[in-house]
Amino acid sequence: MDSHSQVLERLRTGFRSGITLPLEFRRTQLTKLLALVKDNEEQIVKALHQDLAKPKFESILSEVEIVTNDLHHAISNVATWIQPEYVPKNLATKLDDCFVRREPLGVVLIIGPWNYPLQLLILPLVGAIAAGNCAVIKPSEVSSATDCLVAELIPKYLSQDCYAVVRGGAEETKALLQNRFDHIFYTGSQAVARSVVQAASVHLTPVTLELGGKCPCLIYGRINIQAAAHRLVWAKYFNAGQSCVAPDYVLCTKATRDALVPALTNVLEEFYGKEPQKSPDLSRIVSARHFTRLMKLLEKTKGKVVIGGQSDEDDKYIAPTVLVDVEEDDVLMGEEIFGPILPILTVEELEKSIELVNRKEKPLALYVFSDESSVVKTTMENTSSGGFCSNDGIVHMTLPGLPFGGVGASGWGSYHGRWGFETFSHRRACMLRGWALERLNGLRYPPYSDDKLKWLRWTTSAHSTCSLM
Ligand code: NAD
Repeated sequence: MDSHSQVLERLRTGFRSGITLPLEFRRTQLTKLLALVKDNEEQIVKALHQDLAKPKFESILSEVEIVTNDLHHAISNVATWIQPEYVPKNLATKLDDCFVRREPLGVVLIIGPWNYPLQLLILPLVGAIAAGNCAVIKPSEVSSATDCLVAELIPKYLSQDCYAVVRGGAEETKALLQNRFDHIFYTGSQAVARSVVQAASVHLTPVTLELGGKCPCLIYGRINIQAAAHRLVWAKYFNAGQSCVAPDYVLCTKATRDALVPALTNVLEEFYGKEPQKSPDLSRIVSARHFTRLMKLLEKTKGKVVIGGQSDEDDKYIAPTVLVDVEEDDVLMGEEIFGPILPILTVEELEKSIELVNRKEKPLALYVFSDESSVVKTTMENTSSGGFCSNDGIVHMTLPGLPFGGVGASGWGSYHGRWGFETFSHRRACMLRGWALERLNGLRYPPYSDDKLKWLRWTTSAHSTCSLM
């Protein structure tokens, strides 16, 4: 196997050759990536099942389709995205060509997590390719079947001069990070993000961080409790709660909680049957380490389990679980839960719930469920989060038109659709000048005078964009 530096040298040579620049090359690689996903759908579904017991339905929806849609979107739009963007001019620059030119950054590194192991590698790669970069892709070793498959397929479909997969865990990734990249795109935990940023700082490499956090779901005002329970259960227990945008905890009044818990019980039975462990539609916890972490939370919480609570270590199974009487300082309210455990906190007023949310780090997603638009508006206007969605969970991230990313501790930067292209592009400010209007330009040359200054201020001011010439 090539060493990291050999891989990087090959990709640097590829980038320097200019091969990634033409539109046709980018489109061809994106089309090949699309073929990779389409031709190997069955194998992808199988690998995801091996890693997480992910149901085929969820794999198609959240890994295959989301990637396919983003690829179609990029293939159709990249020709427009790469066009120069002309900007307004003033009188002093009236005859110049002034535009923003999107240029590739170079050789970028994409590090992925295990929970959506295909989606979270391929979606950033779409942006990187569309923007004309070369890329090293580092899948998570935890989702080993998908890791293996990605490493086998990428070289078969994409240009080996421009794209490479490097495999390994923490130690290999740390070694890889010692190399100079032109951008690092990291998806994963906040803890590891700190060491990624530290490593990047050595070379002053810009970093995009797609992290997690605790995504709240506020339920206030009049509410269709049946619909709310369906959508909440779907968003929470999809991939067994191992989604960065899964609702992490619920805030509502006591009255709403008393109506919600029986509704959640019914919906859980409707979705997964009386014995959820036998349901083919429920994923498993990815590893023994994460199983133990989640079980410790259940042991230590002072909350009361009202639904679920059962587990089976050999099967890495934790039943869809709901707890009530959870306080703000409970162990379940510390770290992101990242599993099928849903605490419900009761807070009688919406404003107090908003205060509680604002005392914590800014989340990746924030959900509010209500029939009342004033509740939705108040929540949206008085909180901050990477994304926001009313009366549903997760679905806001499926649209390529919306940027996906965090804010503050939930992440830096965004991607999906054009936003991914922008993340992997340098916006170069270009001004192409000729030699005309030298007398006008002469206003800035010494010897200075008040008169010259007066004219200069006028020709460079915003008002002078009006067509005087
Ligand atoms: P992780 O941080 O443990 O691992 C992510 C990647 O980093 C893996 O490829 C891993 O090999 C590598 N890695 C692990 N330790 C490392 C180290 N010490 N130095 C360098 N690299 C290292 O994250 P995870 O457990 O795979 O994923 C779960 C986390 O990711 C959750 O916090 C979740 O919220 C977050 N997440 C965020 C998004 C998003 O889009 N914002 C999406 C999915 C997951």
